[in-house]
Amino acid sequence: MMNDGHRFTLQHFMSKGILNAKEVKTIFSQSKDRFQGQDEEDLRTFILTINQSVAPFNLEIKKGIQEDDGQSHYCLVNTVETPISRLSSTYTLNELELFKKLVEQIVNTEDGKVGSLAAVNLTERLEKKMGKEDAEIFFEKLERDKWIKKDKNGKISLSVRSLLELEQYLKEVYADYVKSCGICDKICLLGETCSSCGVKLHLQCAKNLFSRQGDDRKCPSYDCRAPWGEVVL
Ligand SMILES: [Zn+2]
Ligand SMILES: [Zn+2]
Repeated sequence: MMNDGHRFTLQHFMSKGILNAKEVKTIFSQSKDRFQGQDEEDLRTFILTINQSVAPFNLEIKKGIQEDDGQSHYCLVNTVETPISRLSSTYTLNELELFKKLVEQIVNTEDGKVGSLAAVNLTERLEKKMGKEDAEIFFEKLERDKWIKKDKNGKISLSVRSLLELEQYLKEVYADYVKSCGICDKICLLGETCSSCGVKLHLQCAKNLFSRQGDDRKCPSYDCRAPWGEVVL
């Protein structure tokens, strides 16, 4: 059963959708300070208690890793498959249509990123018209709401929030394109690819694995074991 501390934490998730690990820890300790009777619970059990209570509403707090920097995040996601058109009530249907095209473009590229110009040009493929400036404003909103992330060259990738929320959707609609990480088995859009067998690894996952292997870095794929270059995260 949720107590006031759980409810306090859930409210943060309801309003933000996504929180990084540091923010979650802060809220967790605040809720401990403000509300009594949960001292025995660690963070994992605490989240589990919330998840049990929100499960009937098809909600779940899921933990995931931001692919480019390896940072852990927690997202409140829908457990029923989310078509992009119902992803958020804050965007118009046409905007979500554009997001759908962006996701498709990102998934279809080898490096999991789409340049900002190419992204804006996706408006040409919309049935209903959208100006390029409006598209730019929309992409800024998506970035602010943490659905996408831009790298230093302005290239757009999907952030951990999209990966967690759209996991089912991506796996079903783009089964032939979406690769899973050879280590954690989660969807991997950004990451390194083995030049020999094509297995893809998250940078963070590769870094963790290779830190145990020392200088003898090899592809984790069973029948491959090709040498692997240095992983820079
Ligand atoms: Zn991984
Ligand atoms: Zn390999």
